[in-house]
Amino acid sequence: MSKKIIIEPFKIKTVEPLHIATEQEREQYLKNAFYNPFLLKSSQVTFDFLTDSGTSAMSSAQWAALIDADESYAGASSWEHLWQSIHDLTGYPYILPTHQGRAAERILYGYIGKPGKVFISNTHFDTTRANIEFSGATAIDCLIPEGSQPSLIYPFKGNMDIEKLEEIILQHKAENIGAVILTVTNNSGGGQPVSMKNARDVKRICSKYSILYILDCCRIAENAYFIKHREKEFEHHSYFDIAKEMFSFADGCIMSAKKDGLVNIGGFLALRDKKLADACTNLLIITEGFSTYGGLSGRDMEALAVGLKEVFAPGYLTYRIKSTTYLGEKISKKGVPILLPVGGHAVYIDAKALYPHIPVHEYPGQALVCELYKKGGIRSVEIGSVMFGKYDEQGKLIPSKMELVRMAIPRRVYTQSHIDYVAEIFDEIIADRNNVKGYKIIEEPEFLRHFTAKFQQL
Ligand SMILES: *Cc1c(COP(=O)(O)O)cnc(C)c1O
Repeated sequence: MSKKIIIEPFKIKTVEPLHIATEQEREQYLKNAFYNPFLLKSSQVTFDFLTDSGTSAMSSAQWAALIDADESYAGASSWEHLWQSIHDLTGYPYILPTHQGRAAERILYGYIGKPGKVFISNTHFDTTRANIEFSGATAIDCLIPEGSQPSLIYPFKGNMDIEKLEEIILQHKAENIGAVILTVTNNSGGGQPVSMKNARDVKRICSKYSILYILDCCRIAENAYFIKHREKEFEHHSYFDIAKEMFSFADGCIMSAKKDGLVNIGGFLALRDKKLADACTNLLIITEGFSTYGGLSGRDMEALAVGLKEVFAPGYLTYRIKSTTYLGEKISKKGVPILLPVGGHAVYIDAKALYPHIPVHEYPGQALVCELYKKGGIRSVEIGSVMFGKYDEQGKLIPSKMELVRMAIPRRVYTQSHIDYVAEIFDEIIADRNNVKGYKIIEEPEFLRHFTAKFQQL
C-alpha cells in the first residue's frame, strides 16, 4: 500500500516558467551582485530557497475566494470569514488582523513591553526580539540544551527548557515577566518542533506564576505533523485537533500568515483577554487599519481564511514534511553535513563542517551560498558570521556560534523532480569541496549587513 515515492497532492492549473541560465551567465550575475545572492534579481535564480515566507502557491479555491472578496471598509463579509476561520482554529474570541506577523508583534510587545520587563521564549525570532528590545524590554532565549547540538537526533529539539524557565522567572520575579512566548516550530532553531507535553508544561509554569502565555504559531500545522508522528498520545488525532489543543493552553497567539497561512501577505494577533485586546485594538487602528481589516484587503482575508483550513489537509502536510525531509536526508547520505533531524520548512547545512579549510573570518557559509548559486541556480541564505558576526574593539570578527546555510522550501511551489535535481547539485558541491575559497567583505552597512554587504572572492 504505502509507496516510497512522494507525489504532489495537487494538479497544476497555472504555470510559471523556471529561469534557467548557464553556469557562465550565473558567474557573471554573481559577480555583478558582489557575491551576495540578496542582490540578485529573482529572474536570475532557478530555485529560490531564500525563504518560505510569503512565497507559497495559492490553490484554485483561494483564488476563487479572492474574486468573491468584499472590500468594504467596515464589517466586510471577508472579515467574517477570516474571523470564523481563525476562531475555529484557535478558540480565541478577540482577533486583530495585521498585514504581517511583525505588525502584530509591534502592537502586543510594544504595549506590554517596557524597560525592566523580561520576555522568555524557546528562541525569539529576529523580528520578535527586535520588537521586544525596541520597547526597552529584554528578550531571553530558553531552549533545551539538545536544541543547539546540530547532529544530535532528538524528536523535539524546539522545546523550552522548563527548569530553566522557572529559574529565569524566579530570578527576574514573576511580576516583571512580560510574557512567555512559545515559537512553533522553532524557526531560528532550525524549524525544530515543540511537543505537546512541552506546551502543557509551559502552561503549568505560566499558570503558577500568572504570566501571559503567547504562541508564535507561524508554523503550527507543520508542528502538528511532528506531534502526530512523534508523540504517541496523538497518533490518532487529526492535525487540526492537535493544533487546537496547543492553542487551548495559551492566552493568545501571533501569526505570520505568510508561512502556514498559505498566503503571500497577512498576519494576526488573537487573544482571550478583553482588556488586553481592547488596548491592542486602539493601537491597531492607529497604525494598521480599522479593526475589521487591519492592514489587509478583503482579498487577502479571503485567501487566508481558506489557507488556514487547507494547510491541515493530511495529504498536503505529508507531502510538505516528507519532501523537506527527503531533500535533507538525500544530501546527508551524499556526505553533506546537515542539521539533524530535518525540520519542517528548511534544510540547514553546516558550512564549517563542509569546508573545514575555510576559516570563519573568510565566511564558509557565504562560500557555500555562492557555490549553490553558481552550480545549480539555487538561492539560499547564510546564517552564520555574515548574518550574526560582530567586531571587537580591535576590529576583529567575533564569529557566530555556527556557520549554517539555510535552504527554505516554499510551500506547494517546487515539484519532487525539482527537489531531486537540487539534491543532484550536491554531487558537484561535494566533488569540488576542497577547491572552494573564502570571501572577504569589502563594503557593509551598520545594521543587518547580510542584506546588502558586498564581497570579494579570496
Ligand atoms: C516570519 C516570522 C515572524 C515575523 O513575521 P513577518 O510576517 O515576517 O512579519 C515572527 N515569528 C516567526 C517564528 C516567524 O517565522
